[in-house]
Amino acid sequence: MARIISIVNQKGGVGKTTSAINIGAYLSYLGYKVLLVDIDPQANASSGLGKNIRKIKRGIYDVIIDDHPIEDVILKTKHRDYCLVPSHVDLAGANVELVNFSDREYILGRKVSQLESNYDFIIIDCPPSLGLLTINGIVACQEVIVPVQAEYYALEGLGQLMETIDLIKENLNPDLEILGALITMFDSKYKLSRDVFHELYKYFPNKIFRTTIPRCIKLAESPSHGKSILKYDKKSRGAKAYHKLSREILE
Ligand code: ATP
Ligand code: MG
Repeated sequence: MARIISIVNQKGGVGKTTSAINIGAYLSYLGYKVLLVDIDPQANASSGLGKNIRKIKRGIYDVIIDDHPIEDVILKTKHRDYCLVPSHVDLAGANVELVNFSDREYILGRKVSQLESNYDFIIIDCPPSLGLLTINGIVACQEVIVPVQAEYYALEGLGQLMETIDLIKENLNPDLEILGALITMFDSKYKLSRDVFHELYKYFPNKIFRTTIPRCIKLAESPSHGKSILKYDKKSRGAKAYHKLSREILE
């Protein structure tokens, strides 16, 4: 049965998608079958893995809103054993449309669980909000990873995020665990980053990944080439960090 991991933080631009794409790439490289599910209307994970999102006919929107079979929308990627359920801008409407569904928090989980025996890992890339799509993402998983950018405002909103996770654990998904907070875009030269590190401990005692993701230009360039960092520049510091992180996730 797959480990289902959601990458969550309602703060934008903290490295959720970069982490989702590259954790997936390295887990498949390490021999596991991986499915990445893009539930962000921005569809950055889909384009970052080389898909032309204007040409995608069906994606997670059709699965969630129109009850389309999830197996039918799975796409291959450039990686062996690494598949994608793509997103599309249409998905932006889903936050509103979902309100009318009686099981609105559970739909994604129901769909994704149908694939549990086909994969070792299912990774869900959530949008930067705490709307119904993200709630679906947190309900659908067993574990969450919270990427936190190593910057001054990083901790803003973390209280609200932790409250949401606690509420979902209490009411909708009792098996939910926080796998860890992941420090992204880390630059050890700056004291500020070290302060963020210490502050973060208050929210995630003993739950911060030992691996931190450095600020690395190659990581920022790779999506514009439609490639994971493993395919774009596997010698870069960013690549080594995601490789190490993936091994840490396997521990
Ligand atoms: P959103 O909330 O909009 O979905 P996100 O949390 O998914 O954003 P990303 O898209 O992964 O964040 O990253 C935001 C920007 O920062 C992107 O341009 C990405 O390429 C860049 N970036 C992410 N991680 C790093 C890194 N370690 N070093 C340098 N640039 C990075
Ligand atoms: Mg993103």
